[in-house]
Amino acid sequence: MLDLTYETPKPKVIQGAKEDWELVIGLEVHAQVASKAKLFSGASTAFGAEPNSNVAFVDAGMPGMLPVINEGCVALAVKTGLGLKAEINLRSAFDRKNYFYPDLPQGYQISQLYHPIVGEGEVLVDMAPGVARLVRIERIHLEQDAGKSIHDMDPTMSFVDLNRTGVALMEIVSRPDIRGPEEAAAYVGKLRQILRYLGTCDGNMQNGNLRADVNVSVCRPGDYEKYQETQDFSHLGTRCEIKNMNSMRFIQQAIDYEARRQIAIIEDGGAVVQETRLYDPDKGETRSMRSKEEAHDYRYFPCPDLLPLEIEQAWVDDIAASLPELPDEKRARFVLDYGMTEYDASVLTAEVDDAAYFEAVAKDAGDGKLAANWVINELFGRLKKDDRAITESPVAPAQLAAIIRMIKADEISGKTAKDVFEIVYTDGGDPEKIVDERGLKQVTDTAAIEAAVEKIMAENPAQVEKAQANPKLAGWFVGQVMKATGGTANPKVVNQIVATKLNG
Ligand code: ADP
Ligand code: MG
Repeated sequence: MLDLTYETPKPKVIQGAKEDWELVIGLEVHAQVASKAKLFSGASTAFGAEPNSNVAFVDAGMPGMLPVINEGCVALAVKTGLGLKAEINLRSAFDRKNYFYPDLPQGYQISQLYHPIVGEGEVLVDMAPGVARLVRIERIHLEQDAGKSIHDMDPTMSFVDLNRTGVALMEIVSRPDIRGPEEAAAYVGKLRQILRYLGTCDGNMQNGNLRADVNVSVCRPGDYEKYQETQDFSHLGTRCEIKNMNSMRFIQQAIDYEARRQIAIIEDGGAVVQETRLYDPDKGETRSMRSKEEAHDYRYFPCPDLLPLEIEQAWVDDIAASLPELPDEKRARFVLDYGMTEYDASVLTAEVDDAAYFEAVAKDAGDGKLAANWVINELFGRLKKDDRAITESPVAPAQLAAIIRMIKADEISGKTAKDVFEIVYTDGGDPEKIVDERGLKQVTDTAAIEAAVEKIMAENPAQVEKAQANPKLAGWFVGQVMKATGGTANPKVVNQIVATKLNG
């Protein structure tokens, strides 16, 4: 049985204001669909290409060009919806969102306002072991990305790069269920993790493949509960939307700043104006960008170039059958199957490749606890030092498993195991052979150890007397024996023999 019970965290209360205020946050996350081609054209989506080299005529808004839906993108949106436990709409439709911008040559963005492909879902946002917030998803719709205007290359001219134009985005809209800056960042992190597990978005925030519009309002304690009971937004404060955030750190800073700004306005007797703002990380503040536009400002209407999108339940079922095990389930299973802590399980399931690596080691070594320990403490630490991903690990799961098996069989000490690990990490090789060839096998042969202990005691009679008077000094003999045997003696056995000889 998977245990997914959890406690709900308290909302963030802003300190330092005259009264108590709580935060209410809703996110619109734009996730780039992991597709090689764009949503309505065959142009490439490769990042970092020469400007304006990945542009089909339809992306450039050439007259008379017709968009053709990319089935692969639709499948990935459906998969994302299923991964977020959402309802899939078998019939959805595309609308034109009209606005003028130099990097939007069509003069409109094709989006899904009235009939999105995915309906209500949910994301469980982990805050600490056993503490999580359930954030409801309102909808996911497919839409085109716009191009990029470049204003800082020339003092007098602006440039436009259309490579991004028409790339497929999933806009994942949350309900205003997020109650603090840390939760907002954790929500984006969890969403990113799920998308990466699903393989529907690579989640590279630096490249802009995952960006969030952050809606922030403040309310008095008790008001959010009234909203929850009634779903009536009038219980909540007026919100501001902070656009285009692609860093978890900045998301938190921007929310914190924005909450304080709104509270100051209200406590001064003013009213928050609903608007779109931008966060300036250098100044650590948000600035007004434009007053909030309404849907009618865009004169949305059904895109006449595209038929409504109809998909079949059987196709959705096929996609559902292909879903991988998702993070929450995997984490719960790791706790159950391998007897590890929630914390270790969440570390090992952060990335699907980490989890796969760990499981390969655990199965091969026949010991989940030791495998978890070694993967988390030794392997991850070592990889981090070299800034390497798990997929670039020079130590394969079979090699690490071989080391762990030798520890379990008492063939090598923990210390030797670390040395062998380092040798395999830098030079490669078969751990068992390395241990054999370099004579690193642990000596558990009591006769040999006894001989070594006796020899050292015979050479140090004064030390023997001292240790007999004070048992704490026995450690000195253990150290000498370990030194004399090049660290290969089994420390447990050495300890026992030293103790017996001193007492005897
Ligand atoms: P729009 O289409 O104008 O952007 P939506 O109603 O779709 O507006 O809401 C956009 C986002 O704003 C959603 O994520 C929603 O949860 C969030 N939101 C709505 N009201 C509030 C509020 N009072 N405080 C914080 N977030 C809110
Ligand atoms: Mg919106």
